[in-house]
Amino acid sequence: MKNRIQVILLIVAVFSCAGLSADGGKALVGGTLINGLGSTPIQNSVILVRDGQIERVGTVDTLPVPEGYEVISTEAMSVLPGLWDMHVHLMINGHSDYSYWDVAYADKLASEIMPASAVQLLLAGVTTARDLGAPLEDSLSVRDRINAGEIPGPRMFMSGPFIQHAAYPGTEAFRWGVEGERDARAKVRTLAEAGVDIIKLIDQDEMTYEEAFAVVDEAHKQGLKVVAHAHRPDEIRRGLEIGVDNFEHTGLAAAPEYPPDVMQLIKERTATGRVRGGPLYWTPTVEGLWNYDYTRDLPEKLDSSCWHRGLEDSTIEDIRNSIAEPSELLYFQLTPKRKPTLIRKVTQLRDAGVVLLVGTDSGIPMKFHCQSTWNELDVWVRIMDIPAMETIQSATYWPSKFMGVENEWGTIVAGRHADIIAVKGDVLKYINLLQDVDFVMKGGVVYKQDGLPIEENLQSR
Ligand SMILES: [Zn+2]
Repeated sequence: MKNRIQVILLIVAVFSCAGLSADGGKALVGGTLINGLGSTPIQNSVILVRDGQIERVGTVDTLPVPEGYEVISTEAMSVLPGLWDMHVHLMINGHSDYSYWDVAYADKLASEIMPASAVQLLLAGVTTARDLGAPLEDSLSVRDRINAGEIPGPRMFMSGPFIQHAAYPGTEAFRWGVEGERDARAKVRTLAEAGVDIIKLIDQDEMTYEEAFAVVDEAHKQGLKVVAHAHRPDEIRRGLEIGVDNFEHTGLAAAPEYPPDVMQLIKERTATGRVRGGPLYWTPTVEGLWNYDYTRDLPEKLDSSCWHRGLEDSTIEDIRNSIAEPSELLYFQLTPKRKPTLIRKVTQLRDAGVVLLVGTDSGIPMKFHCQSTWNELDVWVRIMDIPAMETIQSATYWPSKFMGVENEWGTIVAGRHADIIAVKGDVLKYINLLQDVDFVMKGGVVYKQDGLPIEENLQSR
């Protein structure tokens, strides 16, 4: 008798595990589908999902739900590809003091901090994210554990350590300085061989030309793209000269706009996009700057518990204390002077034919992973006057194209990974509905439904 019960329990266990991967199929039925390709939304859509993939896409008139499929209603909802955030920092979580944080939490990054950041992104509807700067082993471990289904999180692209002229004191674990061309190549090769997905380059204007060129040249030889900071005019000039693939941040501090010679260089690059293997990409990361004074004066959103998930109580307390007085944060002192320049700079880039990508710098002081991404889309649409459809493409199709996986995921097309989110209402008219995503599916697994986390699928294994 006891044996029989054990056998039955075993069968139940096997079936419930199998339910996560080789499921009987799911059908998302009824919502307005924005597929990420920029075309007219499809009303009364039907998406069939099986074995983690999108099997077919149609409408209630053209695509009947086959027998045995679990029907999930998306009536009255906008349905779109899982969002991408192209600039996150899993190793930080809103704390205001980096030099303290980098020491105090160095041993907890892979076990606590980065997994917490990852699950917070996922529940915010971010099913793919690019992490730009963290210790190498921690980065790869977190990415690989997510991919193995051991911990929940977005599909991650990891840069590992920054490559730069010289590490800032105390940050050697995630910033690698280079000395000479050979060293630049060697460091890039070390990262490539370890398995990073992209190279993050900063301060390229402080390197010799030979060093900076070697970083990009070696990365390209290793099949990796290079994403680089654009804070200073010379950082942009040098970056364009050496063939950087994607710039980050609007930069230029409080200066009102990009100078004419920089704009000329950018336009020459966007004019040769096809020759160089693709357009020039830029991740402006504006929302943290744009929202700073609002958050300082109305800090209510910092009281949300959405950023607590996955963190120890003591960590939460530590972060909360560090941002208790938002107006005293030195990190943001120049921000009010930068804010009025952001619209002009983003408009200059967009008018020059640059492909903008949604990214946030999520994790910087007061910027929580559960809140940053929708804020970026909101600022683009509401403040920067970028159409919602274009903005959504910059958070779905274009990032997937940049990372070279556009045939695998990033849009809602048959044959792609089933990374799908849904939210009540019309996101093309009200983009800020994305602050409360009702449904999150990644690889066919549902992590959030009816606005609530599905805890059994969010457990670590
Ligand atoms: Zn960043």
